[in-house]
Amino acid sequence: MQAFNLIWFKRDLRWQDHDALYAAFKSQKPVLALFCFEPLLEKHNDGSARHRKMQEQALIGMLRELGPLQKHLIILEANADEVLTFLANEFPLAGLFSHQEHGVQASYQRDKKVKQLSIKHQINWQEFAHNGVVRGLSNRNAWDESWRSYMQKPLTKIELNDWPQWKDKDLLTLRNKLQLHFKFWQAKEDSNPNRSLNRYNSINGLEAFLQKEAHGYQKHIGEPFYSKQHCSRLSVALAWGSLSLREVYQSSMHALQMAERKSDLKAFISRLHWHSHFIQKFEMEMRMEFENLNRGYNSLRTKSNPHYLEAWTKGETGIPLVDACMRAVRATGYLNFRMRAMVVSFWSHLLWQPWQDAVHYLAQCFSDYIPGIHYPQFQMQSSVTGINAIRVYNPVKQSLEKDAEGKFLQKWLPELSHLPLAFQHEPWKLSAMEQQFYNFQLGRDYPAPLIDVNSAAHFAREELWKMKQDPLVLVENKRILKKHTVANRKVHHRSQIIMKPKASK
Ligand SMILES: Cc1cc2nc3c(=O)[nH]c(=O)nc-3n(C[C@H](O)[C@H](O)[C@H](O)COP(=O)(O)OP(=O)(O)OC[C@H]3O[C@@H](n4cnc5c(N)ncnc54)[C@H](O)[C@@H]3O)c2cc1C
Repeated sequence: MQAFNLIWFKRDLRWQDHDALYAAFKSQKPVLALFCFEPLLEKHNDGSARHRKMQEQALIGMLRELGPLQKHLIILEANADEVLTFLANEFPLAGLFSHQEHGVQASYQRDKKVKQLSIKHQINWQEFAHNGVVRGLSNRNAWDESWRSYMQKPLTKIELNDWPQWKDKDLLTLRNKLQLHFKFWQAKEDSNPNRSLNRYNSINGLEAFLQKEAHGYQKHIGEPFYSKQHCSRLSVALAWGSLSLREVYQSSMHALQMAERKSDLKAFISRLHWHSHFIQKFEMEMRMEFENLNRGYNSLRTKSNPHYLEAWTKGETGIPLVDACMRAVRATGYLNFRMRAMVVSFWSHLLWQPWQDAVHYLAQCFSDYIPGIHYPQFQMQSSVTGINAIRVYNPVKQSLEKDAEGKFLQKWLPELSHLPLAFQHEPWKLSAMEQQFYNFQLGRDYPAPLIDVNSAAHFAREELWKMKQDPLVLVENKRILKKHTVANRKVHHRSQIIMKPKASK
């Protein structure tokens, strides 16, 4: 059999603007494409059936694009390192092409095994940078510049009909042998192709956002009800790779030039930068999966309360906006940024619980889960990074401001929707007589609040401000600033459109 190259798909489920695929195509050898649904990751504490559904939809789209060439994409139910070991032992595998993965410890350990395997079998494993994240950095001094130059590079284009050819007999032998050892994934009918995650829908979503929906982006970004319409909702396509960040960036910069009102798109483009910024942070300090970025906070919030966890995950804390968010994310996989930050802040600050107890639940819920964004954001919203502002959100204030008409509350908490609007936000304020009048009983029809918001927030702020002076927190702050921020940061010219992440309360 002729030596061949393997393109290993991970969170990059597309055929276009794919540097690894582009390089494999140029290699003059037959190319086989591989994707693995890995039990290792599916059973991991952050894995979920919802993530798998997103991957399946994207793969169905890719198969459709391949048409008669479908036999070149092999999709298996197996850990990738086991499949690669088998291929390396049985077949003349010459080169392995993939994007770098910035995942959890488990995928890092798997990649280490693949590295050893590639050395043992002299397989040339070429890993390409993904979405502007750089591996092996010790500081961020030159990172902004390198991100921008990555984003401005021309997109790589693939002509699928030029697929580097196999001899039919060889490909059949390889597929048959693989079939004896591994379970092939059977593509199912796409039940809702118009709404599925695939490249066609993602491109349409991007265009619709840039042409129309971005108007009102800044105005509505914090609102749980209207953000669905005015935010891009591209995070799922970016998480699983139906779109590359680079193509979204370039289309957005183009739209920006045309736009009359530029501030919405500038705010959006800043967030594309944050996407990579957070993953870069995680890449440079992977222990964030398990422990506080700032070690000085390790003594904080060590006691777990399982009753709180149950109430929070079920949306039964008795604080309407928190409960509406938790029910919404469970049902849909989506929450806007502000509400994600608010439910995490509620968990860590007002319930005073360790973030580690809640981080996996939301990871499983989010259809756009990306470890490199999720863990650093979780820690930031839990105030354990030391260097960021303390963010103790008041969920009642957020409710009154960000869902003033109660539309989001009414959608997710129908049991409150017959109450006057003010009591939908704060049902505990109903007197006994009013409860009788509205045929509503706090504790029966809707839970009494788990905590008093004002005193819990006061306690959290006091504790967190005390910690700011802790000697280890201060030492760690210095270390973190040196490693994760730009030394002597110059003020960027606004045309460069990079704003530092911040959040108000
Ligand atoms: C606790 C917590 C966990 C989060 N976990 C994830 C996650 O697992 N995956 C994920 O993609 N985002 C995560 N975010 C960031 C953010 O909430 C989502 O990216 C955003 O809500 C997705 O909606 P959108 O695509 O409409 O965003 P838009 O506002 O349209 O932004 C466009 C893109 O920019 C990026 N982006 C936007 N906001 C942020 C941000 N604050 N930080 C980093 N990148 C950002 C995303 O890729 C997003 O798709 C998390 C935020 C918090 C507070």
